[in-house]
Amino acid sequence: MNPHEHVAGFGTVDGELRVGGMPLSRLAARVGSTPFFAYDRALLDQRVDRLRSVLPAGVELSFAMKANPMPAIVQHLARRLDRIDIASGLELHTALDTTISADKVSFAGPGKTPAEIRRAVAAGILVEIESTTEFRRVLAAGDELGLTPNVAVRVNPDFAVKGSGMRMGGGPQQFGIDAEQVPAVLREYATAGANVLGFHVFAGSQNLNAAIIAEAQRRTVDLVSGLAEHLPSPLRYINLGGGFGIPYVEKDQALDLAAVAANLHELVDGPIAERMPEASPVIELGRYLVGECGIYVTRVLDRKVSRGKTFLVVDGGMHHQLAASGNFGQAIRRNYPVAVGNRAELASVEVVTVVGCLCTPLDLLANDVELPRADIDDLIVIFQAGAYGLTASPTAFLGHPAPAEVLV
Ligand SMILES: *Cc1c(COP(=O)(O)O)cnc(C)c1O
Repeated sequence: MNPHEHVAGFGTVDGELRVGGMPLSRLAARVGSTPFFAYDRALLDQRVDRLRSVLPAGVELSFAMKANPMPAIVQHLARRLDRIDIASGLELHTALDTTISADKVSFAGPGKTPAEIRRAVAAGILVEIESTTEFRRVLAAGDELGLTPNVAVRVNPDFAVKGSGMRMGGGPQQFGIDAEQVPAVLREYATAGANVLGFHVFAGSQNLNAAIIAEAQRRTVDLVSGLAEHLPSPLRYINLGGGFGIPYVEKDQALDLAAVAANLHELVDGPIAERMPEASPVIELGRYLVGECGIYVTRVLDRKVSRGKTFLVVDGGMHHQLAASGNFGQAIRRNYPVAVGNRAELASVEVVTVVGCLCTPLDLLANDVELPRADIDDLIVIFQAGAYGLTASPTAFLGHPAPAEVLV
């Protein structure tokens, strides 16, 4: 996808990028300072509606909160989705503030502390067990509180998925219990005082290849239907993971959601209905729900030419939007889509390099990109900033103030 498509996704008004129905410069005035993150409510809703319209009706949609834990976003999505997946005590707190009931909140991640586990058991949420140590801690918390914890076993699958930006299953992993160990773990712990509702398999993240995602889901259903025979009661929870990617750089092609959905229809009507009739399949998404709905807005502080190369120095940078600088796990740095937000309809006339205000060459936001002419005080927008932005960035680095975040 190219930057023009990203501008088109938000739309324009009065020659400016439109965010939350407002021209960007007016939104900037409303926010009162730059830089800031803005998330567009209507685009969030469109995303959810599109997913709902193609996925099988029985599939539950879960929001992996770590992609964007801003409470307003979580509240908004909670009214439209079925579940929330959390990975820390703070996220637990944010999830329980929503209208989603505790039994629809799941807690994944290695290294849950005993204190977090105790809070989760007291809340009545679903704890996803990642090791036998965790199983014992959950059972101990249940004993102590006089409650029967709800758990699922997170399984490290015996297959790996190619094409993921981040692989989180297959081979040796800190995540989950290896598939081949699960039967023995269930023999030892499944009747020891917890309700074991099912399994979670998360193979990887940021995948743009529908065929690979579909294959991972088929193999997950296969794996889980075998493991379900080791449960003392019928399988009720099967979390198929997600991994749906979004296009970040120009060479990326958007995911063929219809193809992923068609495969899910086959699985739901076929093996899931036949072999696990009481299970509700869950698809758990982070960036696919929120990533494209958000922008990072910065203001040009300086424009300078060094030996023939034009630099726009903006008041934001990698301390807020690390991923755009290429330092969030990317093997090769490529430009995220950018635009001059208050001149979004003008044609590109020059090649510039956008850098942040940090005193390090790593703080590069866009290298040699074509843009309309931008001057001091113009607004430079970085797209695809709705997921893994502010909370995935080193905000304390260089000690600049935190940016605002708005849902409009
Ligand atoms: C991070 C994470 C997700 C979300 O990944 P995205 O790429 O943002 O969709 C989903 N499930 C689990 C278990 C995760 O750790």
